[in-house]
Amino acid sequence: MRNGLSKDLITRVLGGAPKYTLDELESKYPPRDLPEGAFVTRFAPSPTGYMHLGNLYSGLIDYKLAQQSNGVFLLRIEDTDTKREIKDAVNIVIDSLARFGIKNNNDISDYGPYYQSQRKDIYHSVAAHLLEKGLAYPCFLTQEEMDEIREKQKLAGLATGIYGEYARDRDICEEEIIKHLDNGEVPSIRLYSMGNPENRIYVKDFVRGSISVPENNEDIVLIKSTDRLPTYHFAHLCDDHFMRITHVVRGEEYFGTVALHVQMFRIMGWSLPNYIHTSTLDKIDEETGKQRKMSKRKDPENNVAFFLEQGWPTDAVIEYLGNILAPGYEEAKIKGQVKSFWDYELRPQKIPASGSLFDMKKLEWWAKEYIATLPVDVLVKHVVDWANEYGNEDNKKQVADVPYLTSVLAIERDNPKRIRKDFITWQQTLNEVSYFWDFLFVSNKEYEYNQDVLRSFLETWNEADDKDTWWGKVVSVAEKCGVKPGEAAMNLRVAMTGRTNTPDLYSIMHVLGDERVRERINKHI
Ligand code: GLU
Repeated sequence: MRNGLSKDLITRVLGGAPKYTLDELESKYPPRDLPEGAFVTRFAPSPTGYMHLGNLYSGLIDYKLAQQSNGVFLLRIEDTDTKREIKDAVNIVIDSLARFGIKNNNDISDYGPYYQSQRKDIYHSVAAHLLEKGLAYPCFLTQEEMDEIREKQKLAGLATGIYGEYARDRDICEEEIIKHLDNGEVPSIRLYSMGNPENRIYVKDFVRGSISVPENNEDIVLIKSTDRLPTYHFAHLCDDHFMRITHVVRGEEYFGTVALHVQMFRIMGWSLPNYIHTSTLDKIDEETGKQRKMSKRKDPENNVAFFLEQGWPTDAVIEYLGNILAPGYEEAKIKGQVKSFWDYELRPQKIPASGSLFDMKKLEWWAKEYIATLPVDVLVKHVVDWANEYGNEDNKKQVADVPYLTSVLAIERDNPKRIRKDFITWQQTLNEVSYFWDFLFVSNKEYEYNQDVLRSFLETWNEADDKDTWWGKVVSVAEKCGVKPGEAAMNLRVAMTGRTNTPDLYSIMHVLGDERVRERINKHI
């Protein structure tokens, strides 16, 4: 510890008097009144306008843990470090989460504001406390001076940073501080670290177990001189304490700072949140076949918007991410023990610590299974909504006549034993059934049609026939033309759809209707 600063000097150093005492903050944001075992979590993105899959993954953990324990899930915007347009970027986050079924409780939780840029009073009040107690100090090192220190440390093969003898202003006295301030300099506020890297501290991480890490000895910046806003570390301390967060879920890239964070919580005498450091999401590289981290540059699926634009069922994405998080989920679902991931208990200890693989092929399986469970009107609604928002002109035309679209998508959805599983995304669903629309129908010119079959079928076709009568006619047409019934049906199938593989032909012909059936047969005669 060093000597604490006087109140006046603290005000000058921070550029204004602190608004609250620690006691005032404690009573403004008291411990929450929640049932035993409730998790309070937060999703804390920096608003960049780009939400990556890893964000969704950790947001899902936050949300699920809060939801299943009747806790609270907050969205906190970490906007102290960005000069971009924040509003749109925040809307992208809120909207993307909502589309995946993730809703925050900010409006019912009195622990805001939830934008870090609006919490300056809180950070400054905590910083004032540390300055007063001699646990932090104003540092007037310039960028050039810090660069020089860095070079020196590098040459000597030492850890870089402001610590120990390199922390010039660690023991700066009041007179010197005043001199700098009178000179118009704005200091950063640094932690007065008393850690010794030769000692180790023990941290419990839900995913990684109990881990020991060397103590931190860096006098890290708490409040930046440039804008007097907090660094990530200091904001994490103040916000997660005063928002009464019980579980901090964040990417493994933050694990390296955990010693510092533990140190700060201890200095404040605050209880430590539980940490859950998740692993990054990997994929199998198409070229090398090897597992690697997803990349913003190379992998379109790294962007959450990709799934929305392509019309992946968001519920299926959640199901699959849920299964990555909770490896027993798939089995419980297949056994019928739970209906969706929302009903399955996520055990934080079971979240994988490394190498979580996100495989688009597996997602396809989840998507097919999911779409297969949808009643036709729900499927139609998804497809229509997607087409109107993201579809091309053709897609929009396809969904214009909803009753027709409904009859198209109803094919083979009434028999629970044989639900078709060829729909993967809303976009692909529309492509899959495109032949139902004349403007998209592509007649198959390669196929060698049996003209006799087409002609004789046309003579007997009657839209009013039931399925057995219709099939009886196909069989007699086949007999007459000396081919197998299957071959006769294939001729009709290809003439109707241009394809050799389709769902039930009788249903297709009835959805197409008398006029189109005749037209398409005639086209090939
Ligand atoms: N703003 C940080 C990020 O986007 C949040 C890390 C945390 O959750 O503490 O990665």
